[in-house]
Amino acid sequence: MEWTPEAEAYLKKVPFFVRKKVKREVEKYLQERGKKRITLEDLLEAKEALLSKMSEAEKGYEVSGCFGVDSCPNAIMASSHLLSSLERILEEEKLTQFLTSKVGPKLKAHHKFKVCLSECPNACSQIYICDFALHGVVKISVNPKACSFCGSCVEVCEENAIELTEFGPTINEELCVGCGHCLKVCPESALSEEFRGYKVYLGGKLGRHPRLATFLDYYKAEDIPELLRKVLYLYKKHNQKGERLGAIIERLSWERFVKELRDLV
Ligand code: SF4
Ligand code: SF4
Ligand code: SF4
Repeated sequence: MEWTPEAEAYLKKVPFFVRKKVKREVEKYLQERGKKRITLEDLLEAKEALLSKMSEAEKGYEVSGCFGVDSCPNAIMASSHLLSSLERILEEEKLTQFLTSKVGPKLKAHHKFKVCLSECPNACSQIYICDFALHGVVKISVNPKACSFCGSCVEVCEENAIELTEFGPTINEELCVGCGHCLKVCPESALSEEFRGYKVYLGGKLGRHPRLATFLDYYKAEDIPELLRKVLYLYKKHNQKGERLGAIIERLSWERFVKELRDLV
């Protein structure tokens, strides 16, 4: 398609790594409307329409995971089954209908209730900006008597959480992120698994008032679906106009939200 010099000059303002894609989208949009030549006015019209389309959401929720156990050696939990059941709950709870009743038929991406899961503490799926977020974790228990003082655990721990004393290893709980790497390299039974499951975080979001998700607790995989149902119950109960969970938590206070959550049977 032909572009006027003004339209070409405007297009050059788009960052180079997305310029080709933007050009393609604009041409497609305008071709569908019978245009053969793109003026600056056409380009601005296409820009507005495409940006508005981008921000629209078909569903009132989104579920995302990381690469996971099939392709990542860091994975602690295999979570595809859990992700499917969480998605089913969001569907059963009619999140889309709930949100459209609050904000009208045109949902935007920022209205969505986001569930994010990472299979290890590296948190590749940006869990800290999601409403309901979790990552796989392992808690280590130490049996100093079985330690052969090889030092492998100290070497492998990127958090410097392990100290090898004359009595054996000690783990600093404040520093340990629960990645389980030390467990994999210990040649003895000095390190073992005390817990394998998820750390759950609530109320993360971006937007005008960004908020990182707050750590709630450790949960076994089988308890997560019930927890999500309870969180959704409170999210709906306290939702005034389609705000994100983080905004509700800020309004009520974290302490009150957690108390209400724990009081639910
Ligand atoms: S979060 Fe962990 S398991 Fe998932 S892709 Fe990232 S490193 Fe791998
Ligand atoms: S679980 Fe990970 S962070 Fe914790 S002590 Fe072991 S290697 Fe270090
Ligand atoms: S890797 Fe195991 S045996 Fe080696 S120092 Fe650490 S706890 Fe002891």
